[in-house]
Amino acid sequence: MHERDLIDLIQAKTVRKHNQLLQGIGDDCGIFTSLPGTDWLITTDMLVEDVHFNTKWHSPFLLGRKSLAVNLSDIAAMAGSPKFVLLSLVIPKRYDNSWLTAYIEGFTSLLDEYNCVLIGGDTVSGERLTFSITVLGTAIHNTAVCRTGASPGDSVYVAGHLGSAAAGLYVCKEQNYTISDTEGSKWPELIRCHLDPIPQVRLGQQLNKTGFITAMQDISDGVATDLSHICQKSGVAGVLWGDQIPGHPELYELCRQNNLEPLDFQLRGGEDYLLLFTVRRGCEKDLEKCIADSCNTALFRIGTIEEGRGVVLQTGPGERISIAYQGYEHTT
Ligand code: ADP
Ligand code: MG
Repeated sequence: MHERDLIDLIQAKTVRKHNQLLQGIGDDCGIFTSLPGTDWLITTDMLVEDVHFNTKWHSPFLLGRKSLAVNLSDIAAMAGSPKFVLLSLVIPKRYDNSWLTAYIEGFTSLLDEYNCVLIGGDTVSGERLTFSITVLGTAIHNTAVCRTGASPGDSVYVAGHLGSAAAGLYVCKEQNYTISDTEGSKWPELIRCHLDPIPQVRLGQQLNKTGFITAMQDISDGVATDLSHICQKSGVAGVLWGDQIPGHPELYELCRQNNLEPLDFQLRGGEDYLLLFTVRRGCEKDLEKCIADSCNTALFRIGTIEEGRGVVLQTGPGERISIAYQGYEHTT
């Protein structure tokens, strides 16, 4: 497909109306206007074929969704509202019209779910399929949640089961999956978490509204590494309770059948895109009640913040193993 035809296709499939948008796709720049009392959040992520994804098992529709989802997750991690998106593509010649159309359909399906508007991008041909996506979001002035606010005594929480996405990737790789295998897999939740992660945008905002959150980020490289980021930025130490790390039943069954260790996926597996956050000491019950009333998301209390540096896994009374920065390196 020619560059011009692809841009026409993108324009045809995307909504272009937003009350702050003055110029969308079609001119040299997009133009949007700011509202008083709000801050802009901006984030960008690049996904490169055979490093971040594999089109052998990742359908173009779900890849379109995931390439946007990982960026929306960064906005969620600061409790922002995503608004505008830029999409830059490097496309090798072997990806045909139907593949590109399905990619754009997946991408726009998630844009619509989060009421975001695609306002521009760039399209070039090249050797390796690459998506570079930028999302602009907003937050009420000075309310975005940073990684810097955790204090000794805070509790550590995660908003879902850990390790599912990494286990899904393991299945795709080790069992030599193709797109048709992923559709009928016996590990539907693990595969779904790897192929089609859900950015927790509304949850991020609801958590922030409670006023009990002290620091937050999304899990992209595994909880051992991502909690290390919060701890390093906040100047504190993290303790994860080995017997409280949540996992999906499919993860335990996969590990049982293949003689694998679930904690390896749960602590070090990447790409769960779940919110990881700290809660002010003594506010845990109130926070859990607020979220149970406003969102239908399971929260798991998985550890605590102490004075010091680094992250440890508590495996028994007085038994601790350092796991700081034991994360996931991207290669497929
Ligand atoms: P320019 O030469 O000014 O970069 P382009 O021909 O690259 O213009 O793009 C024309 C318009 O189409 C611009 O508004 C640009 O933002 C938009 N555009 C190009 N590629 C994409 C894409 N992949 N997704 C969304 N908009 C795009
Ligand atoms: Mg251009």
